[in-house]
Amino acid sequence: MTGERIDGKAIAADLRAKIAIEAKTLIQEHSLIPGIAVVIVGEDPASKVYVASKGKSAKECNFHSIEHSLPEETSEADVLALIESLNNDDSIHGILVQLPLPRHIDESKVLNLIRPEKDVDGFHPINVGLLAAGERDKALVPCTPAGCLILAQRVLGDLRGKRALVIGRSNIVGKPMAALLLSAHCTVTIAHRHTQDLPSLVKDADIVVAAVGIPQMVQGDWIKKGACVIDVGINRIDAPERGEGKTRLVGDVDYDAAAERAAFITPVPGGVGPMTIALLMANTLTAARRSAGLDDLDFAALLADV
Ligand code: NAD
Repeated sequence: MTGERIDGKAIAADLRAKIAIEAKTLIQEHSLIPGIAVVIVGEDPASKVYVASKGKSAKECNFHSIEHSLPEETSEADVLALIESLNNDDSIHGILVQLPLPRHIDESKVLNLIRPEKDVDGFHPINVGLLAAGERDKALVPCTPAGCLILAQRVLGDLRGKRALVIGRSNIVGKPMAALLLSAHCTVTIAHRHTQDLPSLVKDADIVVAAVGIPQMVQGDWIKKGACVIDVGINRIDAPERGEGKTRLVGDVDYDAAAERAAFITPVPGGVGPMTIALLMANTLTAARRSAGLDDLDFAALLADV
């Protein structure tokens, strides 16, 4: 068996196009322009690239988008004051603070000040609690795991009763991923660095979500035949075959070997990564709609609607 490659790049582009149409409708019918503010402190080049692509996506989605780019030496008090002013700005429905922040700024203090209904990253304790309590419809959910769930649902349909293994228990990926799979009625196992006999857990799983950060650690022959493999990992490794000093990106799964056994598998790059930004746009649209008392859209259903 050679597994079907899940084209996250194409699915994310489709989702962004659907969001752009929905945003236009919101503007025409409710005079409401979804607004997102991205805050970045310091000069980290990778963060700058992420922020630029978030701004570009927001514009493509017909959103109002602003970027606050603050110098590295900005005080914590000034960052908190900016968050407070964005909390009170009615044209802004989503606030995203690019991480990591410089060491002299307390990250949790900043993230916890964002009003939960504008917390489009889904990291605020209120949103974490709502998701954990099974009240997903009231929460804003972290973008990467929400994107993974859409990919799994797109290829498998109803996930009810499936055995799902999440490898990794971080607050931004592993834990919310497990909560989302549980909300989709999977039987969920979470593995982490102290888990024993990981291969036997993988061998049992209908769905494997790998979010570890160790290049190609999940071996192909661990994968159950016909499983769905979602690889969140983004790891840069040396690629001497491409020339001296060259590198390439790989996931946490040994793709070629796993594709021999899986029915569906995401590549790295081009799998989960593009979905993360698309889901950030989806969360911003949701936050804008909720601010006007409108119902949430079902983004998985929107995607299915061609
Ligand atoms: P993290 O470092 O916060 O968490 C890693 C987790 O892996 C931990 O819970 C740890 O217990 C677990 N772990 C470590 N060694 C293990 C082992 N041998 N067996 C089982 N579990 C083990 O990482 P994170 O922020 O969750 O990110 C994970 C990966 O996903 C990274 O490669 C990161 O770059 C990538 N990532 C991608 C996106 C995206 O948009 N595609 C978004 C976020 C993170």
